[in-house]
Amino acid sequence: MKFAQRIQNIQPSMTLAISAQAQSLKEQEIDVIGFGAGEPDFATPEHIKQAAIRAIQANDTHYTLVGGTLALKDAIIEKFEGDNGLFYERNQIVVSCGAKHSFYNLAQVLWDAGDEIIIPAPYWVSYPDMVVLASATPVILNTDQSSQFKITAEQLQNAITSKTRALVLNSPSNPSGSAYTRAELEALAEVVLKHQLLVISDEIYEKIVFDGFEHVSIAYLSDAMKRSTVVINGASKCFAMTGWRIGYLAAAAEIAAAVTKLQGQSTSNPTSIAQAACVEALKSHQTKVAVQKMVEEFKMRRDYLMDRYAKIESVACYQPVGTFYSFPDFSGILGREWNGKTLKGSLDVAEFLLEEAKVALVPGIAFGADNNLRLSFATSMENLKEGMDRIESAVKSLPA
Ligand SMILES: *Cc1c(COP(=O)(O)O)cnc(C)c1O
Repeated sequence: MKFAQRIQNIQPSMTLAISAQAQSLKEQEIDVIGFGAGEPDFATPEHIKQAAIRAIQANDTHYTLVGGTLALKDAIIEKFEGDNGLFYERNQIVVSCGAKHSFYNLAQVLWDAGDEIIIPAPYWVSYPDMVVLASATPVILNTDQSSQFKITAEQLQNAITSKTRALVLNSPSNPSGSAYTRAELEALAEVVLKHQLLVISDEIYEKIVFDGFEHVSIAYLSDAMKRSTVVINGASKCFAMTGWRIGYLAAAAEIAAAVTKLQGQSTSNPTSIAQAACVEALKSHQTKVAVQKMVEEFKMRRDYLMDRYAKIESVACYQPVGTFYSFPDFSGILGREWNGKTLKGSLDVAEFLLEEAKVALVPGIAFGADNNLRLSFATSMENLKEGMDRIESAVKSLPA
């Protein structure tokens, strides 16, 4: 079979290898603790599920407008006003089948071969591949724990060429749990405006933040920044609605129109029932209560994890200010011997932890950071305790 060049240009998700290994251990009835979860471990709140059931019974089961129902667009417009201080019109909003789909659509309508898209690492796994699928070139800017996994204005400035089109920002960040402050965003915005770049601002974790961290959208900084930003958000992470597949973007009307045109010739509208549920999720006061409870639980788990990391000498972990991921640095055990071989990078460490401690973490190389692994705390406290016990003793058992 001959396949198109574009599908040969991208990698299958690297996270799959480790989950396949974990799955095969589980099939041998070996008790593996999975820390790979990329979604909340909570059920969708009851009132949101009920809204979907009502939508089915009201025969809300037909095609909707391609870019989303007017009711949902209006709820999204209200959300942007209330949460972000951003004012949009209906023709600036497009609802898609998940925030991933929003980004995919954008890449397809905005970029061509030769365009350079700046992506800070560690990055969400899908950004570089979606950029490549659009024939454009990802330009990766490395960060590490010493800079709290954030790029500086200077780093951005130095990466810009005549081909640079856009900067992808993901704050709070999957996988690092880091987030940009308003002052940091202002410094980046200055460079963005000077070079007339577009910012794709993925804010899907905006509500999952701790210790009073105040999420600011870079689009909020000025009118010029609002015109230069596409904000992406969705229901998956904040409302525990990953399976419903609702994401959305807010952009200049001409960008929204191009995205709607593409969507009209590909998926058409996202599911009518999920859209109705999302209206309820965005508008109901009960959602605020449910989200607050989830965030409190995530914070408790994060605090527990930070205590545990602090007790493992060769592992250092940045304290996440948001999301449900921790991104510990295992470089302290790189170069050590295990099972007759040298641990050289995050894939080796992941294998060591899986075989030796029976815990599954995602190797950081999948996110462009080979010293780290991602440990998701979207799992029970019981699993966190047992899993950290195992990690601690496995790491301590390694010959120095
Ligand atoms: C999960 C995730 C998304 C995509 O979520 P959807 O389920 O497609 O809405 C987008 N960006 C980041 C950073 C994510 O972690």
